[in-house]
Amino acid sequence: MTTVERPGVVEGTTGRFETVIGLEVHCELSSATKLFCGCPNAFGAEPNTNVCPVCLGLPGSLPVLNERAVELAMRIGAALGCEIRPSVFHRKNYFYPDMPKDYQVSQYDEPINVDGSLELPDGTRVGIVRAHIEEDTGKTTHVGATGRIHGADYSLVDYNRAGVPLVEIVSAPDLRTSDQARAYVAELRALLVATGASDGRMEEGSMRVDANVSVRPVGSEAFGTRCEIKNLNSLRSLGRAIEHEAVRQVAVVEAGGRVVQETRHFDEESGRTSSMRSKEEAEDYRYFQEPDLVPLRPSASWVGEVRAGLPMLPAERRRRLLTLVDGEPEAGGAGTASQVATVVDLGLDELVVAAVAAGAPVRVALARSANEAAQRPDQARLVDPAAFAALCRLEAGGTVSATQAKQVLAELLEHGGDPAEIARGLGFEALGDEALSSVVDEVVAANPGEWERFVAGEEKVAQFLLGQVMRATKGRANGKVVAAALEARRGGAA
Ligand code: ADP
Ligand code: MG
Ligand code: ZN
Repeated sequence: MTTVERPGVVEGTTGRFETVIGLEVHCELSSATKLFCGCPNAFGAEPNTNVCPVCLGLPGSLPVLNERAVELAMRIGAALGCEIRPSVFHRKNYFYPDMPKDYQVSQYDEPINVDGSLELPDGTRVGIVRAHIEEDTGKTTHVGATGRIHGADYSLVDYNRAGVPLVEIVSAPDLRTSDQARAYVAELRALLVATGASDGRMEEGSMRVDANVSVRPVGSEAFGTRCEIKNLNSLRSLGRAIEHEAVRQVAVVEAGGRVVQETRHFDEESGRTSSMRSKEEAEDYRYFQEPDLVPLRPSASWVGEVRAGLPMLPAERRRRLLTLVDGEPEAGGAGTASQVATVVDLGLDELVVAAVAAGAPVRVALARSANEAAQRPDQARLVDPAAFAALCRLEAGGTVSATQAKQVLAELLEHGGDPAEIARGLGFEALGDEALSSVVDEVVAANPGEWERFVAGEEKVAQFLLGQVMRATKGRANGKVVAAALEARRGGAA
């Protein structure tokens, strides 16, 4: 049987196959108006209310290019490290009822952005071939049992989306697993949101993904023939579609068949892909230069302004946190990279950076942000960094235990205030040396056998004794301090 053995590798009956993935992501730009007319660019309006002769393709209407959309497209290019070039608009001709002009204005062989890359949280660098401008089509709703055009009783069309500015971002075939493909889309979404170019809402169709998938025997250099799975509108569907498609292609190859290059549809219900149409060639679209628009040549100074105006991007923000971690060797270790990714993802990195500047130990600040603050990011982004830093110091210094620190933090997020006072208010008095020492006395007296074995050097009893002390103090003691106290007493007893 053919199974997915580990992400990206399919164990067939004749050998192991690697999955190769390249993604084409369409994202709607967050301009106020459409690409070639003044109609509002808005989601969710009454159907066919945001329309005019231009976006309905009525005879005699002429397009006027939206400067803001061009600027947002350049921001995307700059954020992806692309070269931003003079570009040309083409007509891509095809007939479909959601496109009243019967062509889509797009960029073909001279796109505005080329040759960039996107860095994923795991450090993988994915090549960006191009990121070009085009107009969105209208939206059709096929009414009937299938929900697809085949077998529909009738179809409804809404032209509000026709002419909405899009940037299509085309990756190199550098991705190897469905997890990586998902990470790529998540990272791209974070970048689009950070630049303000798009709201990145997959559920509203602001971001739509086509996945190109092929398989090849592990160790082989040559790429296999790819299929393109259209319009995946969630990270979950993207992952499922890729996994299913890879297994399907391996089965085709192993049965002695040949993968046919085609466009496929992913069915959410069955979790399978099925053929939609054979792959169109460029000739099918009869591309020619759009005669109603001049070539687009952004000035060097405009490009320079766009590049200079970029905010700090997620990859750079992760690096900034990792630099703090490097400055505090104790802070590293497994899980740090994922904590850093979570913190940046939720926009809590400013808090961590400011708290560390105010004297918080990086390890504690990262852990409390990635775990507890992450549960309430909206409140956490507003918390006073100095107060958060003070809490981290209370925990690191053993004044409150980790469990208590989490409770203090919850209170701090909810109402603000001084962490030391909150701790006192909750009855988290620091357990003084004397109090701890007398608890240790009691535990030793109550467990003479275990204590003897510990003194004789039996290390596994240490955990038991520590647990007894923690229990007796109801979690108020600091584990490290207790361990040290037990160790010191053993030294004295031996
Ligand atoms: P086209 O011009 O036919 O759309 P491109 O070469 O521009 O083809 O590639 C489109 C997308 O397909 C890109 O995202 C690219 O990374 C991806 N791709 C190309 N070849 C393969 C392959 N063999 N396997 C998987 N993806 C591929
Ligand atoms: Mg394509
Ligand atoms: Zn219009």
